[in-house]
Amino acid sequence: MRRPTEDTLRHQGLRNKLIAQLEAKGIKDPQVLTAMGKVPRHFFLDIGFDELAYTDRSFPIEAGQTISHPYTVAYQTELLQVSKWSKVLEVGTGSGYQAAVLAEMGAQVFTIERQSELFEQRKKFKWLMETYRLIKFFYGDGYAGQPTFAPFDRILITAGAPAVPEGLIPQLKVGGVLVVPVGEGDAQRMHRIVRVSASEIKQEVFDEFSFVPMLKGKS
Ligand code: SAH
Repeated sequence: MRRPTEDTLRHQGLRNKLIAQLEAKGIKDPQVLTAMGKVPRHFFLDIGFDELAYTDRSFPIEAGQTISHPYTVAYQTELLQVSKWSKVLEVGTGSGYQAAVLAEMGAQVFTIERQSELFEQRKKFKWLMETYRLIKFFYGDGYAGQPTFAPFDRILITAGAPAVPEGLIPQLKVGGVLVVPVGEGDAQRMHRIVRVSASEIKQEVFDEFSFVPMLKGKS
């Protein structure tokens, strides 16, 4: 992948337009909009996508995976209700864009990727590593979470899970929030799970999206 290295005024202008579109589509959280207005999405894609990066589309990255639509990133991040210093576990590092948005909001991010190719690429992505020192990258299966650093305030799954990954609930603090797209095939419904007590969860279901699948094991 050939990465762009410049973030110009033109990019900033395109980013502002994209943020206005996200607002028009219903994203309200000013923290989410501000963070997405700052992170140069084109840095996370091949140089060929330079301006397309600021359209509301998903694009291919390495290993047959995708960077999610900006609207999807905004939607999931809004549901997650992150604040400064929230400890967030992300499953599905992919391009690293979502992790950067969370870090831009001041969260402490622990992100897991099961594809070694993507994990290795992110480690070599110097800009990301240096700009967001609060992101920690792990190679592994997100179904196992990250017990060493648990419990988390928030867990965000950015791949489509066939069912709510129950195994991750114990890694959520009481009062913590898990956002996960649930469903097999082409469509998933966004779920938000709040761990209301040690033994109880509350579940809400939101709109439909289309994610690459959350797969077991490493590759
Ligand atoms: N958050 C990403 C979107 C990536 S797409 C971004 O901002 O670009 C989903 C990613 O989840 C893919 O990279 C895929 O390899 C990864 N994935 C799928 N199942 C996984 C699992 N069990 N554990 C960790 N990562 C997984």
